[in-house]
Amino acid sequence: MNDCDTLVAGAGAAGMAAALAAARPGRTVVLAEARETFRQGSNTAMSTSMIPAAGSRWQRAAGVEDSPGRFLADIRAKTHDRVDPVVAAALTSVAPELVDWLADDCGVPLELVTDFRYPGHSALRCHSVPDRSGAALHRALLDAAADRDDLHLIVPATLVDVRTDEGGAVRGAVLERPDGSREELSCPAVVLATNGFAADPDLVRRHLPEIAHGVYHGGEASRGDALRLAERLGLDTGYLDAYQGHGSLAVPDAILLTWATVMHGGFLVDSTGRRFGDETVGYSEYAVPVLSRPDGRAWVVYDERVHDACRAFKDYRDVLAAGAVRWADDVDALAAVLGAPTDALAATLADADAAASGTASDAFGRSAWGAPLRPPYAAVRVTGALFHTQGGLRVDRHARVLRAGQPVPGLYAAGGAAVGISGHGADGYLAGNGLLAALGLGYLAGRHATA
Ligand SMILES: Cc1cc2nc3c(=O)[nH]c(=O)nc-3n(C[C@H](O)[C@H](O)[C@H](O)COP(=O)(O)OP(=O)(O)OC[C@H]3O[C@@H](n4cnc5c(N)ncnc54)[C@H](O)[C@@H]3O)c2cc1C
Repeated sequence: MNDCDTLVAGAGAAGMAAALAAARPGRTVVLAEARETFRQGSNTAMSTSMIPAAGSRWQRAAGVEDSPGRFLADIRAKTHDRVDPVVAAALTSVAPELVDWLADDCGVPLELVTDFRYPGHSALRCHSVPDRSGAALHRALLDAAADRDDLHLIVPATLVDVRTDEGGAVRGAVLERPDGSREELSCPAVVLATNGFAADPDLVRRHLPEIAHGVYHGGEASRGDALRLAERLGLDTGYLDAYQGHGSLAVPDAILLTWATVMHGGFLVDSTGRRFGDETVGYSEYAVPVLSRPDGRAWVVYDERVHDACRAFKDYRDVLAAGAVRWADDVDALAAVLGAPTDALAATLADADAAASGTASDAFGRSAWGAPLRPPYAAVRVTGALFHTQGGLRVDRHARVLRAGQPVPGLYAAGGAAVGISGHGADGYLAGNGLLAALGLGYLAGRHATA
């Protein structure tokens, strides 16, 4: 007799989805979480809770034409067709069913984000909770878990090993408590939902050297536990150079300044008062350009209209509360705030105005502007950051971990522990694909494990 039917390691979005999908009457699920701080400190809790799904009922209600095939095409375009085709197809296909399940079975209060589109998405397809906060999404999942009789959350308990039988199939897992004591649980299925390796500086230097000098802004427990297990068990890994960066982490407060500031019409300048690229290519690939500015800093400049549009984000309200938004009545005052030469800044504002008004083309090729900015101007000082890694264990369409191309019976990976759908580097990341890989692979893993 097994101690449980499914053991899930890690209680972020991936682990919660796996545990909830695996839990059903008569099937015992153990969800082991390493950190007491996971309600605030997991990546999921820190996120903006954007979940892309193409062909959802929310899109239909809003009259948005979209389909999994169109979403897949966007992913292929953003990744320059260097994405894991099996995982990308599985996640884009399951996404509409996933958001239905999150709302109907797990009670997550989802809505479609209709006020702006993130870079690379050709349709409005990000779903989120009302205050666009990962903590609220995570809380809803925890509440759903509390309602399931056969789902047992154990905190703190760290997965340190997976046991397999002579044929290579999973037969158990080893958990370690903070006092060093260990417990072995017998079970035929283990889901690795321990996120990636972005909190391990050595692994980051090895696999992601271009962002190793950036600020890390993600969960402290993302230390590559699944990757170390993969090395020990000889599991397949891939896309280890893939990551989500971000070009606007407010400094010194270390709070995410939403890229909605840019998509509504804002832009970035450095201390010379000049822009340095087309910001609408994406926030992930903007981390390194920001880091290469003087002092590794830049300013996001926008106006009151943009400010009002961003208030829907809990993160943005936190940026405001921290006093990080500086206001300036005119170009002179803005130059003083930025410590930039007035002439250069005035020329930048004039050029941006002309591009946003459609009277001239942008020198960097930016075509999406919202509307021209009008004084008073707002400015937030930002730096480039690493948010999470997007490479990991290779999986099949059921989230089963592969070894030499074949599924390991009973072993699954989801979220940051598994390969993502962002191709290589930073520029393949589309907004929401972190949580889609977490919730989607978790859902697929949990369902398959329990079937
Ligand atoms: C500021 C910010 C904003 C973001 N916004 C978005 C967004 O809007 N949309 C989006 O798609 N993505 C977003 N992301 C990325 C997204 O947060 C992650 O891709 C996603 O949350 C990963 O989920 P996960 O479950 O794999 O990891 P996590 O949420 O980090 O959960 C992993 C859990 O595993 C635990 N753990 C680690 N090792 C072990 C072990 N050995 N044993 C047991 N437990 C262990 C950890 O403590 C943690 O609780 C954002 C990230 C950041 C930092």
